[in-house]
Amino acid sequence: MMVGHWHGAGILRRGDLMLGEKEFGRAFDWPVYRRLFGFLRPYAGPMTLSALLTLVYTVTNLLNPYLIKLAIDGPIAHADPAGLGVLSLLFLANSTAAWLAQFGQTWFLAWVGQQVLYDLSSRMFNHVQRLSFSFFDANEVGRIMSRVQNDVQVLQEILAQGTVSLAADVVTLLGILAVLFQMNPRLALLTYLVLPLLVGITVIWQRRAMESFRRVRAAISVVNATLQESVSGVRVIQALVRERDNLRRFDALNEQHLEANLQAGRISALILPAVEVVSALATALVIVFGGGMVLAGELQVGALVAFTLYINRFFDPIRDIAMRYTLLQRGTVAAERIFEVLDTRPEVADAPDAVELPPARGEVVFEDVWFYYVPDVPVLKGINLRVEPGETVALVGPTGAGKSTLVRLIPRFYDVKEGRILVDGHDIRKVTLKSLRRQVAIVPQEPFLFSGTIYDNIKFARPEADDAQVMAAVRAVGLDELVAGLPQGLYTPVGERGQNLSVGQRQLISFARALLVDPKILILDEATAHLDSRTEARLQAALGRLRAGRTTFIIAHRLNTVRDADRIVVLDQGRIVEVGTHTELLRRGGLYRRLYEVGFGATPAPPAGDGSAGTRAS
Ligand code: ATP
Repeated sequence: MMVGHWHGAGILRRGDLMLGEKEFGRAFDWPVYRRLFGFLRPYAGPMTLSALLTLVYTVTNLLNPYLIKLAIDGPIAHADPAGLGVLSLLFLANSTAAWLAQFGQTWFLAWVGQQVLYDLSSRMFNHVQRLSFSFFDANEVGRIMSRVQNDVQVLQEILAQGTVSLAADVVTLLGILAVLFQMNPRLALLTYLVLPLLVGITVIWQRRAMESFRRVRAAISVVNATLQESVSGVRVIQALVRERDNLRRFDALNEQHLEANLQAGRISALILPAVEVVSALATALVIVFGGGMVLAGELQVGALVAFTLYINRFFDPIRDIAMRYTLLQRGTVAAERIFEVLDTRPEVADAPDAVELPPARGEVVFEDVWFYYVPDVPVLKGINLRVEPGETVALVGPTGAGKSTLVRLIPRFYDVKEGRILVDGHDIRKVTLKSLRRQVAIVPQEPFLFSGTIYDNIKFARPEADDAQVMAAVRAVGLDELVAGLPQGLYTPVGERGQNLSVGQRQLISFARALLVDPKILILDEATAHLDSRTEARLQAALGRLRAGRTTFIIAHRLNTVRDADRIVVLDQGRIVEVGTHTELLRRGGLYRRLYEVGFGATPAPPAGDGSAGTRAS
């Protein structure tokens, strides 16, 4: 099977997971629709108008062959030029009405569709960006993106097209059946005989088309995932000279895509000839039997002509209903997925009686704090720690000890599972997230920069800050000297995620950001990358200024940092195993000393920078 083949091509697991996603559900899932229609409510006016116009279009469209019948059997059969003129005008008027109605209907539907798309996208975006970290741990970026983009698009289609157009198709089909019956019941029943054949062909075709369509989409998503990864990782690919293998891998996937598309093309090419044959069969039946009836004087010529015209219109609504049915099946799944996201409540949210955290002094107390990401795998096991206002605490410990987890609990990125954390005596779960997070700033190890200039990125932390405040922060961390060499200085674009800048520059930008927030509690994950000694010194100086007057937690990877800290807290396997100053802990000869001897162990043996620092200390 194809999926197996993709495995063979060495594609990522992520791509495979996307393939496994359910794509078709029940076409008529009423609870889902009830909720969906809620999105149409603001546009009830245009939707009703469009439904009316659709009805006008359907009826006028149905009327045309009938007018031809009337012309043939009336004025033409009776040589009545005036009557013919009237009917021609009627025909023209009817056609004009049909065109106008079609224009109006299409335009209104497109308008409503785009409005709904806009509403849904913005609801999704707003909701997703408020969800807690745990949601993003459990859902891959690609999947979230596809929810926000593809699923919303599918919904937009079914809401606008699916509803009104499906109704129009049904009306058209029933209308044709009724008109035929009205003209001649016997011939009509005979004509109905081809209907099962038409429906059968359409259903079989639709099923195959759906399958091949699904394969095309799956192929596209794998090709896209690979392309995206290759473009993002192009530096690594070039550095490792993997272009050729990579191309081979991509080609294999691309070929699958091509094959799937060609197959889809073949299937869609099949349907028209098949339907033509059935229509021809029906027309032949009508001409043979209807012709006999005309000869026997049981049917008028005009009716015979109208019959053949209507037969050729049978197929369109049948095919459209089949296609829309599939759309509905895709739509209910898309809707379920969207609702699933919209119904996900942020795990961390304000308590109903949450109060504002008053301007903090910065005391932070952990009381018997337990935490896990996965039940039964505790990551923090009974942490007790009191940090005084203005104190600097360095966290050290082997990798996976729980240092990052510990600090993530302070701004409530996750909530403690047991115990509590107090800021100035307030349980942080009892104050509003906004007031808490405004007083806590985080400088991550790998600062995330958005596209834009250095200046934009600093101001991102506090958009209401004025230029003077931004410049003060820039100067305080010494970023001004560092950007002086850049052609546009502070207004240099940082490139995607700050790729145009050095690690030191990125860290300093992140420092300036934090300084602009002016938090009472500062959390800093030191960069592990080796920095040259000048940058290192600059960062240390900036850090000194940054933490003055604030309670600071630093996940420390450098000797200078731990020596400057008021206290060092050593974590191991989720527990605090030692607390003290650098000299005290060294003297004790425990885990800290061992970590110190291997350059803090939190990272693979650090290169010269930290090593030489270690020598200096001894
Ligand atoms: P490092 O110095 O390597 O960053 P750390 O001491 O900061 O390590 P944490 O990142 O807090 O350690 O991780 C502690 C444990 O929790 C590890 O076993 C890690 O695998 C696990 N963990 C961390 N983040 C998550 C997450 N989002 N979901 C599940 N498990 C996680």
